[in-house]
Amino acid sequence: FGFKGCQKIRGPQIRNLLEAKDFFLFDCDGVIWHGEKAITGAAKVVNSLIRQGKNVVFVTNNCTRPRENYVHKFYRLGFTDVILEQIFSSSYCSALYLRDVVKVCGQVFVIGCDGLRRELQEAGIPCVEEADDPDATIYDCALAPDVKAVLVGHDDKLTFLKLAKASCYLRDPDCLFLATDNDPWHPLSGGRILPGSGSLTAALEVASGRKATVIGKPSRFMFECISSQFRGVDPAQCLMVGDRLETDMLFGSNCGLDTMLTLTGVSQIEEAQEYRNSDLTTNHSLVPDYVVDTIADFLPAFEE
Ligand code: PLP
Ligand code: CA
Repeated sequence: FGFKGCQKIRGPQIRNLLEAKDFFLFDCDGVIWHGEKAITGAAKVVNSLIRQGKNVVFVTNNCTRPRENYVHKFYRLGFTDVILEQIFSSSYCSALYLRDVVKVCGQVFVIGCDGLRRELQEAGIPCVEEADDPDATIYDCALAPDVKAVLVGHDDKLTFLKLAKASCYLRDPDCLFLATDNDPWHPLSGGRILPGSGSLTAALEVASGRKATVIGKPSRFMFECISSQFRGVDPAQCLMVGDRLETDMLFGSNCGLDTMLTLTGVSQIEEAQEYRNSDLTTNHSLVPDYVVDTIADFLPAFEE
């Protein structure tokens, strides 16, 4: 079966698929919106699925906002039926991992935005306070004695000192090394890109000689968070919809879900076909089962 997957579907095939599935997982950027702009028709699709009684959740590797900010963003962009419990971000899942899986006792040193720190606070996880003395250096700054984990995520105020401190904490083999996600970069408008969390994690992996445990997609942990909050989720009933092969499609495959690539984001259908035709069988986990141009292609399925 070397050539399974990558099936471009339309009209009645989409309708059949939507009828067959009862649990929809949507990636956000590139599927639902581009930055601050909703993808045309996406709000109507999401609201229609919810009103049909389908389960809908959002799985985003964007760790920069706490979940309540997402609720506001969804509302602002016209997704009026989305509630907090439907949102699974890499920052929220990192907090759950620290609280429920490793049961961290001690402080966490965070490289990341305020939103990530807020999400940890919400879960009752103590973070090392950043003293912002602009003249401090790694030669003379204080290091906290009880740091039990370093958590790295996208940080638009990254400094050399933060990297240096994190590298020092990671010398302790009992200090865990976690990354919210490993995304390499993100597209911005006008052909620009934003370096992702993965680029910061890579710097710290080199400095520490260690490998980070990744919480976000493609790791299975986000699906475990979803399963524990929506009892009895059957992977066979799920469809994972995303725009990036290396995160979203691999995540779906890792969790045993059917996958759909939308062409409104990062990955192109040609890349999916290359993975499909590859002799390396591990590449086949990156191949979507289905492909659509945009999730707006779902809209006719909601008409009588
Ligand atoms: N992380 C950051 C900092 C981002 O800006 C983005 C997209 O804009 C993402 C992650 C990817 O988010 P998603 O998983 O929703 O595509
Ligand atoms: Ca995406």
